[in-house]
Amino acid sequence: MLEKFERYPLTFGPTPIEPLKRLSAHLGGEVEIWAKRDDCNSGLAYGGNKLRKLEYIVPDVLKSGADTLVSIGGVQSNHTRMVAAVAAKLGLKCRLIQEAWVPHEDAVYDRVGNILLSRLMGAQAQLVDEGFDIGIRESWTRALREVEAEGGKPYAIPAGASVHRYGGLGYVGFAEEVRAQEADLGFAFDYVIVCTVTGSTHAGMVVGFSADGRARKVIGIDASCTPRQTKAQVLDIARNTAALVEAGEITEDDVVLNADYAYPVYGVPSKETVEAIRLSARLEGMITDPVYEGKSMQGLIDLVGKGFFPKGSRVLYAHLGGAPALNGYSYTFRNG
Ligand SMILES: *Cc1c(COP(=O)(O)O)cnc(C)c1O
Repeated sequence: MLEKFERYPLTFGPTPIEPLKRLSAHLGGEVEIWAKRDDCNSGLAYGGNKLRKLEYIVPDVLKSGADTLVSIGGVQSNHTRMVAAVAAKLGLKCRLIQEAWVPHEDAVYDRVGNILLSRLMGAQAQLVDEGFDIGIRESWTRALREVEAEGGKPYAIPAGASVHRYGGLGYVGFAEEVRAQEADLGFAFDYVIVCTVTGSTHAGMVVGFSADGRARKVIGIDASCTPRQTKAQVLDIARNTAALVEAGEITEDDVVLNADYAYPVYGVPSKETVEAIRLSARLEGMITDPVYEGKSMQGLIDLVGKGFFPKGSRVLYAHLGGAPALNGYSYTFRNG
């Protein structure tokens, strides 16, 4: 589906799929849980899902002749960390707007983890006192104008690299990669679990898996806590991406978004999220974070417990990265 699109390699290549045997057994042994490790996809600043998306955006950056990448996220945004890494790798400048998306008061929240890494890689990170929103932001358009006023040539990358024309392509590629790996494994996964916030990861998967009728087997676990806006954005991106890759029509029912685990709010883990993070760490040595993957892990665990997946199902947990943010939550895990 992606032959006609240019891809600039930022990742190591196909990411491994591995069985989570102890977690599967712990949850009753009737459902096989596997993980696809997009959290280990690159040597660029710890990697993660945004690099898969950026691989299809970088050719456009290079064509544009821009000298500065401009992007936006929360203070502990994984996305802005990955934009900073790409800028360093390409020899571009990087300007990041880090908004106060998370009502979190850990004393070192704006000094550690993702923002520390972005600063280390030379990005100019500006803290802005605005709340959570996955849409286009004033502070971001202002930063773009400032770069121009200083004589630079900015390239705008929206939050999560999602509402970019090519933002959905990377995860169409994920679906194609899974299909190829399934051919080697000798079976196909019955469900895919993915954490959803700005939407292009889920949207790309919907388009990619629609090719073999599995769009609705992609279960998005909302972590935005604004599920209506997020679902609308996933649908929008999926439709635009489907048109781009000339896939069939995507309908509202193709976007399955479970909003049960995003509470209490974006970026703040519930007690159950923290338990899920511990369980995955202790049974599998697999590290998930309080903002994203801990919530999709919580969803996976709860859905297995509720019998959502028929006995014998094989479920693929898409691990999208995000561990550096854990450093901003050291108090939560002070006793493990
Ligand atoms: C950005 C991100 C997500 C959510 O992906 P979207 O494409 O924004 O929906 C999930 N997990 C991690 C670790 C992320 O960084």
